[in-house]
Amino acid sequence: MSDDMLRRKKLDIDNDEDIEAWPLDDDNPEFDFDFIDSDEAVQSRELPLVILAEIVIMPRMTVPPLQVGQGKSYSAMEQAWEENREVLLIFVHEDELEGYRSNQAQQLPPIGVIAKLEEFIKLPDGTAHVILEGVHRARLHQVMQFHPFYRVRCAPIHDPEIKGMEVQALMETVKQQVDEFVDLLGEVPQEAVAFVHRIDKPGYLADIVTWGPAFEFKDRLDILNTLEPTERLRKAYLILARQLELLKLRQKIQQDTKEVLDQSQREYFLREQMRVIRRELGEDEESDDPIDEMRRKIAELQAPDYVKEQALHEVKRLAQQGMNSPEAGVIRTYLDWIVNLPWADEEFPEISITEAQQILDTDHYGLEKVKERILEYLAVRKLAGNKMRSPILCFVGPPGVGKTSLGRSIARALGRQFVRTSLGGVRDEAEIRGHRRTYIGALPGRILQGMKTAKSKSPVYMMDEIDKVGTDFRGDPTSALLEVLDPEQNNTFSDHYLEIPYDLSKVIFIATANQLEPIPGPLRDRMEIIEIGGYTEDEKLEIARGFLAPKQREFHGLLEEQLSISDEAIMKLIREYSREAGVRNLERELASLCRKVARKVATASDDSVAHNDNAEGTADTGALHFKIDEADIPTYLGPERFTFGLAEERDEVGVATGVTWTPAGGDILSIEVLPVRGKGSLQLTGQLGDVMRESAQAAMSYARSRAEQMGIDPNYFEEHVFHIHVPEGEVPKEGPSAGITLTTALISAMTGRPVRRDVAMTGEVTLRGKVLGIGGLKEKTLAAHRAGIRTFILPKENAKDIVDLPDKVRHDLKLIPVSSMEEVLKIALGNS
Ligand code: ADP
Repeated sequence: MSDDMLRRKKLDIDNDEDIEAWPLDDDNPEFDFDFIDSDEAVQSRELPLVILAEIVIMPRMTVPPLQVGQGKSYSAMEQAWEENREVLLIFVHEDELEGYRSNQAQQLPPIGVIAKLEEFIKLPDGTAHVILEGVHRARLHQVMQFHPFYRVRCAPIHDPEIKGMEVQALMETVKQQVDEFVDLLGEVPQEAVAFVHRIDKPGYLADIVTWGPAFEFKDRLDILNTLEPTERLRKAYLILARQLELLKLRQKIQQDTKEVLDQSQREYFLREQMRVIRRELGEDEESDDPIDEMRRKIAELQAPDYVKEQALHEVKRLAQQGMNSPEAGVIRTYLDWIVNLPWADEEFPEISITEAQQILDTDHYGLEKVKERILEYLAVRKLAGNKMRSPILCFVGPPGVGKTSLGRSIARALGRQFVRTSLGGVRDEAEIRGHRRTYIGALPGRILQGMKTAKSKSPVYMMDEIDKVGTDFRGDPTSALLEVLDPEQNNTFSDHYLEIPYDLSKVIFIATANQLEPIPGPLRDRMEIIEIGGYTEDEKLEIARGFLAPKQREFHGLLEEQLSISDEAIMKLIREYSREAGVRNLERELASLCRKVARKVATASDDSVAHNDNAEGTADTGALHFKIDEADIPTYLGPERFTFGLAEERDEVGVATGVTWTPAGGDILSIEVLPVRGKGSLQLTGQLGDVMRESAQAAMSYARSRAEQMGIDPNYFEEHVFHIHVPEGEVPKEGPSAGITLTTALISAMTGRPVRRDVAMTGEVTLRGKVLGIGGLKEKTLAAHRAGIRTFILPKENAKDIVDLPDKVRHDLKLIPVSSMEEVLKIALGNS
């Protein structure tokens, strides 16, 4: 090294303030002139400067090939390649690069690395492929040239020799850190680790470890700029320590997450298995989270938006309050209701009237008029669709006449679901509309309960016993019912529990009642009344033979060959085992008969030999045949239940035959009057209600007023007490219709003229002897017919109903409409 160079170096140092390009950063403590030794000055040299962005090449380190584009650094390296292949590398941030390139940079970093250019291969695209190897840390002294590339004067910096316990310890620690890193990261070649372990210079160790992944650009730059080796190593140590800590933490997190994941994977796996097992067992698959399950169900619900909104609102409440909150049960019940009510609109095929007729005929015997009206109703529905307010059908008639089964047939003909709800005993509006949810145990009203059962938004909905709806202080259910039945209002039916409107407009309502009179007027006006009276014995026989017996036989798994019931046997069941207008008890008796036979058949198949009096055939149960005749009935069903009224055997004085109406049909009723000596007027015994007593009074007054006319001594009344008795039998309805019968018995008793035994009568009587109309003519005539009566006296007002009577009744009975008591007496006491 020449003296001149040395001088210049000294000069440079002395005049550092004069050198613009010199990075005189006083804040940079690393830039310490104390480290410049004389050796450095001696080794000073001029080199092309290469600026690298975001990368630091440490001394004694080769880096993978770099791609260098055209520019100052390219030119510098091109030049170096020509010379001794040495360059000074300085390292900058990417964003500083532009400044240096365009000569704008006034401050170059003070410390760089002298590097050897191992390769410089120009590529066709104008870039070059470069391999550099760091040689010395170097200090930049002076910029000699700016253009076309920087040429600088610089000198290598050699680390001073440092020994001592502390630095030894530090080196050991750093090497341990390296080991730890390798443990944690793996994938580091053993030779590299061994190489690090062999290093015995702190500065060198620091430089080497920066190549590890723990160091970022700024860390490496910091290490590079730190000239004091111990300090440099300490910095490396700190960075490594921090990175190790981070790495361990990250690993711990990973480990924890993995554990959590493993756990949840395990759970998932187990749940999957459980689901499969459940499915195999045919159990419902239920989601584990009831709230999610609810949300899913609501999402799937085919319901209007307002319903879903309300439901989701409740789910939110449930989620907020928690499944264990006291309210949760209430909310869940509510949500269950919403989810289980039918909301979806349904399409139905067009009604076929012919098919409907077939269905009605297959299910029911007779009832021609009723069927006709039902078909008319269906026809109107078919043509007018929903445009017309179709009236609500109301079947009125005694139990067991087929009201429910007609409803079922209508549903079948329309292809709809069938539901029924009994309104019997409903006194409270809340039973129709439900209770508000604030009440404990609140539920929707009967209407919506029926809808839930129907599982369809448009079922045939039968409301039974509409005549038994009552009114009291708790409110009037009638108005709620009116809303239900009103097509103008029922598309937004409000139930107190549900709170949101429910559309009932697609429902086909049918009402049933036993009696017409008790049905509240406004309700009656809304409905089309179809009356179904009782059946005659012959009709019952037909029904039993053609419908009930085959139905029950099939129901009990019996073949036609296994059981036959003779007509006489059925007749016995009708007469002595059931007393009713309809056929419900008859069906029950037939069922019980079938049950008994089924048992015998089943037992016979056990024994494989049949021992039965009624059974024909032997071992093969298929060939076993039970023929049930009249005489067999008591052995199967026990002794007869009823004896029904029959006409008296001969004409008697003071005994007249009336007929009564009961919900179970009609029956005849003998009224006896016996005059006994004594003071007073009337004495009544037997089962007489108040109305009957009044009737008796009226009869008495009429008899007295006509006494003279009929040749009775007026004193007769003063000397006699009239004992009136209604013998056992059906409890007479509190009706005035026994009026003419009472009067006839009374007058017969007074006059001693016998009443014709084959005459039965019904009618109310006024004080002046006018005969007024009555109800239940069909049941009454049926009872009279059954009892063997020949002549039937009825009020003239009821003459119009005669056409509705069964043919057999009209044919067998002489029906005589009357308007006055005189006419009655003329007929009833006619023989004398
Ligand atoms: P209601 O509803 O009027 O009390 P149901 O409809 O329950 O009477 O009738 C009782 C039983 O009698 C049912 O099994 C029904 O099918 C049967 N039934 C009633 N009337 C007839 C009929 N005309 N033809 C055939 N079966 C009938």
